[in-house]
Amino acid sequence: MINVAIDGPSGAGKSSVSREAARRLGFIYVDTGAMYRAAAVFVMQRRIDPDDAQKVGSILPMLDIELRYEDGEQKVYLCGENVSQVIRTREVTRCAPIVSAHPKLRQCLSDMQQEIAQNNNIIMDGRDIGTVVLPNADVKIFLTASAEVRAQRRYKEMIEKGIDITYDDVLEDIKERDYYDEHKPISPLRPARDSILIDTSEMDYEHSIQVVVDTIKNRVGI
Ligand code: C5P
Repeated sequence: MINVAIDGPSGAGKSSVSREAARRLGFIYVDTGAMYRAAAVFVMQRRIDPDDAQKVGSILPMLDIELRYEDGEQKVYLCGENVSQVIRTREVTRCAPIVSAHPKLRQCLSDMQQEIAQNNNIIMDGRDIGTVVLPNADVKIFLTASAEVRAQRRYKEMIEKGIDITYDDVLEDIKERDYYDEHKPISPLRPARDSILIDTSEMDYEHSIQVVVDTIKNRVGI
């Protein structure tokens, strides 16, 4: 099985680039951020304080997250319910980094991710894929861009979806999330030693995909 790990900060275009690169290569795309977001929804639905490690740990046996592929699209199911839309709301976006800081939750999701990788050719994107989840991945990419460029892209995306938000709010959210992700005591965001750094600040979407696809092809010889 060919395993590709793509890590990087939020808004670097990881999900859209990884999804399209996977489609062109005929691989399965695994969005691990969506799994952390679903876990955040689970915690919010139960009205549990997301900072409370013990309470979050106690509900993990009931956590049932499933990634399904419908018409080539990844859909996220939480305890049988399609939460693909709700996981993109601002509340969930703010809660996900907090719940994702708990070691027990990370272990639980990491086990699920490793199982998917064992049985499929995959591109898996996240924060700790090359460092923790798949340390032996065939290719490790760290995909990044400046905070301002990332905020601008995310802002445009949200406005197109009709979400009422300002650029400054988006930039603030991105900086806050970067700080959280980089300072997490467990699995902080950092490039794996053997990862290839791709900075997309000056690249458009198509160019970013091309660079990622070429990098993977060169590395694995396909
Ligand atoms: O990638 P996305 O923005 O959807 O991820 C949501 C949150 O989940 C991130 O802010 C990060 O805190 C967390 N996450 C993580 N480890 C991953 C993927 C996401 O901690 N592998």
